[in-house]
Amino acid sequence: MVIEDVKNILNIKGCYVLKDSFFRDNLRYAVERVDELKKEELAERMVGTIRRRFPGQSGLVYCLSIKEVEEVTEKLNAGGVKAMPYHAQLSSEARKRAYLRWFTDQVQVIVATVAFGMGINKNSVRFVLHYTLSKSFENYYQETGRAGRDGRPAHCILYLKFADVFRVSSLTFTERHGLQNIYAMMAYCFNRRTCRKRQIADYFGDSWAHQCGDRCDNCASGGGEGDGDGGQLVEVDVTEDVADLMNILAFVATRQDRKLTFPKLMDLWFGKGEKRLRPESLVICRHSREAAQTIVACLLVDGYLKEEFHFTPYSTISYVTAGPSSWLMKGGGGPQQPIRYWLPPSSSSTTKKSGGKQSAKRASTTEGDDSPEQMEAVASKRKLTLKSDDQGKSKVTTNGENTQKSAVDYELITLE
Ligand SMILES: [Zn+2]
Repeated sequence: MVIEDVKNILNIKGCYVLKDSFFRDNLRYAVERVDELKKEELAERMVGTIRRRFPGQSGLVYCLSIKEVEEVTEKLNAGGVKAMPYHAQLSSEARKRAYLRWFTDQVQVIVATVAFGMGINKNSVRFVLHYTLSKSFENYYQETGRAGRDGRPAHCILYLKFADVFRVSSLTFTERHGLQNIYAMMAYCFNRRTCRKRQIADYFGDSWAHQCGDRCDNCASGGGEGDGDGGQLVEVDVTEDVADLMNILAFVATRQDRKLTFPKLMDLWFGKGEKRLRPESLVICRHSREAAQTIVACLLVDGYLKEEFHFTPYSTISYVTAGPSSWLMKGGGGPQQPIRYWLPPSSSSTTKKSGGKQSAKRASTTEGDDSPEQMEAVASKRKLTLKSDDQGKSKVTTNGENTQKSAVDYELITLE
């Protein structure tokens, strides 16, 4: 996308494009799911990780907001990890001082917003932690690329909170490609099946002729490279789960004239939240909360759900509504096309609660095959089209909305 933009802006006809590989052999990528952790607990976990795994080694922590930078810096210092903040509201002298102290190993960690980037020239960065996910995959790759420039092993860990996706989308949806960018980031985070490095290569249109080994969490757990058992992930038919979600959304919109945020939708799906917002026919979610979040994330990327933004004097709120692909669900009294996502086996139950009673319906689990042919077959069955741009980057088009990954290609992230 960037190369095409630059070519168009410069209006160079028939130019020769030289690209280096995006593969960095010495970097290890991982995503850790931290939904259950409170802010302080996540900071404590980071302190523990830094002290245990990276004692005396240099690193970076990226946050979404200046407030977060200040809070995390304070927590790291309180936990015995010397850290300094770096963000746009600091004077240029303060920023220079922080950089120099970090560069000369007087402090171990710089905690920064995206403002910390240009001109970093430290080769011995051993870890890059993301307290919050980045606004785009380009940003994430660039930020993690500051690790291990000396060629020695370095670690890139992203701490994923489902709710952070909507914090970022509320900030960036007015930007050019803003939503597309955060959904690409989200697709990477929730994809537990494909090698992380391969996902990076695919995203940037790089050729893939590498061996990851166990240098990403997906490969280490048997999910990556497509030659393991997917970390015992199974492909689950979630079509009726999607119908349940649509039922909740329709009931709240038409009977109560209300809109739901994503956390509220999740609460209702699990039989919690305001009683009057629950449809009588509510079918309580049969999955774990993490698996349910994965399903919702995939549905958002695939256009079955979409975000609608509402401005208040103090903030922007993201609401969830039926997306452009949801028409596929409406036909002949039932869904026409199966929707399948990769989930851990424990989340695929043969029993499902309905109105407090157990019912045996809705058990549909199939063994997986994520070959390109299978992906294409499933995508086309669901009226999605897989296409390649001139850089060979795969895209899924859902009724005009571009996303980066196939619908069949997302799984639950579990804690290491
Ligand atoms: Zn891998």
